[in-house]
Amino acid sequence: MSSNVEEFGSGHVLADGNFDPRLAWDWSDYRRRRAEIAGRWRADGLRYFSLGYFLRNLFGQRVQKVSIDAGLTCPNVDGTVAFGGCNFCDNRSFSPSRRLPRQDIAEQVDSGIRLLKLRYRVDKFIAYFQPATNTYAEPADLRTMYEMALSHPRVSGLAVGTRPDCVPSEVMDVLAEFAGRTLLSVEYGMQTMHDHSLAWMNRGHDHAATVDAVQRSRNLPLEVCLHIMLSLPTENREQMLQTAEEVARLGVDAVKIHNLYVVKKTPLALMWEQGDIKLMDRDEYVETVVDFIERLPPDMVVERVSGDAPGDYFLAPTWCLDKPGILQAIDQEFTRRDSWQGKRFAGPQA
Ligand code: SF4
Repeated sequence: MSSNVEEFGSGHVLADGNFDPRLAWDWSDYRRRRAEIAGRWRADGLRYFSLGYFLRNLFGQRVQKVSIDAGLTCPNVDGTVAFGGCNFCDNRSFSPSRRLPRQDIAEQVDSGIRLLKLRYRVDKFIAYFQPATNTYAEPADLRTMYEMALSHPRVSGLAVGTRPDCVPSEVMDVLAEFAGRTLLSVEYGMQTMHDHSLAWMNRGHDHAATVDAVQRSRNLPLEVCLHIMLSLPTENREQMLQTAEEVARLGVDAVKIHNLYVVKKTPLALMWEQGDIKLMDRDEYVETVVDFIERLPPDMVVERVSGDAPGDYFLAPTWCLDKPGILQAIDQEFTRRDSWQGKRFAGPQA
């Protein structure tokens, strides 16, 4: 970490030295600090603006996300948009008929934090509402969910994963309330800008829904992160890079890039087992993801560069289970090209 790190939000530091995001949230101070950090990752020897680097510099220490299952379902599963869900998604665990009673969120945060503290020796956390669609509930219920997570003294921010067609104005109002109090990142599953691919994966929304959600979110003091899926069998490299240019054009704060991977008991698993789809090999993926990141603006945080799933669900491709190996291969590819994030960014006016 750079020596010029200052504790973010130092105007709201408690007696024990910890920043309490519940006391106050200074968005303009945050944007100033963010811009400073975005301006020095290259000088610190990175090839892209990674989430770990960003959070370490923002909070002055390592920060870990703690995953929460709020017990919600998804409109693409319960029949509101479609049944069955996206073809890659193992949604049996959150289909409405199979829901377990909602576990206590405060308990999940607490036990998750205890585990992560032991594993990583970290003391600051972002509560991440991860499975299913985490804005798909009544505003009052969403408020209660987010409040429970934020009330843990070690939680310094919230991340909310959702679909772009699931943020009506009353939900945006709840997000705005929390964004006024803490670091809040809303993560939209964009996946691709190509409607034919969204139809192939049975997303149940088109790209216009993502553009609309991003535009409405940009009026609020929150971070917007887009989830992208590369290596879709419906797209060639050029089309995947068009998505990179679209992500850059949308001007969001962060991106999570996943390769397409197959988990058991999904429609995608059937396609893969029948030989109907071909997955990218590792070298091709590494080249594509580097091409992709080169086209992003240098101040966009790259939160992930590949995806995987727990071993008992996972089918293919096996190379994506070796995360350190992928990270190293991506770094080597950047070095081989003498390249970095933003090298091929066309600029905000493009
Ligand atoms: S929108 Fe998300 S939660 Fe819903 S089916 Fe698709 S991947 Fe699963």
